[in-house]
Amino acid sequence: MKTIGLLGGMSWESTQSYYRLLNEGVKTRLSGFHSARLCLVSVDFADIETLQRAGDWEAAGRYLAASARQVQAGGADCLVLATNTMHRVAEAIEAAIDIPLLHIADATGAALREAGVRRVGLLGTRFTMEQAFYRERLEQRHDIEVMVPDADQRQMVHDVIFQELVQGTIDETSRQRYLAIIDELASRGAEGVILGCTEIAMLVHQSHTALPLFDTTELHARAALAFALDG
Ligand code: GLU
Repeated sequence: MKTIGLLGGMSWESTQSYYRLLNEGVKTRLSGFHSARLCLVSVDFADIETLQRAGDWEAAGRYLAASARQVQAGGADCLVLATNTMHRVAEAIEAAIDIPLLHIADATGAALREAGVRRVGLLGTRFTMEQAFYRERLEQRHDIEVMVPDADQRQMVHDVIFQELVQGTIDETSRQRYLAIIDELASRGAEGVILGCTEIAMLVHQSHTALPLFDTTELHARAALAFALDG
C-alpha cells in the first residue's frame, strides 16, 4: 500500500471526512486490522481564509506549496489537497513537489463521465463557482458542461459554507435553501449536481433529492484509495 499525503485543515471539518473515508476504504478492501497509510499536514484555516478574502492567490500558492513540501518530506507518495477552492493554486503546488497531485476536479470529472452526465450544476464557494480554474478543467479535460446558480444564490451558498459548514454548524433552513437551488438547476437542465465544496456533504445527502449528487470529498478519497491500493 502506498502512503497518501493529505493536505488538510481547509476546513478541518471536511478533513475529518477524508480521514474516515480513507481508513474505511482501506478496511473494506483489505479487511482485518488494515488502515490507511497516511501523512497529514493540517494548516490553520484562518491563514487561508484571509488570503482568499484578499484575493492574494500568489501568497496562498506559496503557503500551500510550502505545506505540500512538508507532506512530501513526511514520506507521502501522492498529494491530496483536501479542498476544492484551493485547487485555484494547484499549479504552484505541483511545481513545488515531485509526487503527483490527485486533482479533485479530475476525480469528479471521471465520475461524471462514468455516470453519463454531460451537463452538471456546480455548488461551492464563490471562488469555485465563479472563477475559471474549476469549471474550465471540467469543460476542457472532461467535456462536461457546467452550470452555476444565479448571483444571489451563489452568495447564499458561499455564506452557508463560511458561516456554518466550516464551523461545524448544520442548519435545516440552509439545507432547504440548498435543495431549492438543486431543484432549480435540475429544471434548467442539470443532469446532476457537484457538491464542489468538501463540507457540503455534511448538509446535503443523496437521500434528500432524486437528482444525482457528486460528492467531491468522497470521489477524491476514492481516487486516493485507487492510487494507494491499485497503483
Ligand atoms: N472546503 C471548501 C472547498 O472545498 C471550502 C473551504 C476553502 O475555502 O478552502 O472549497
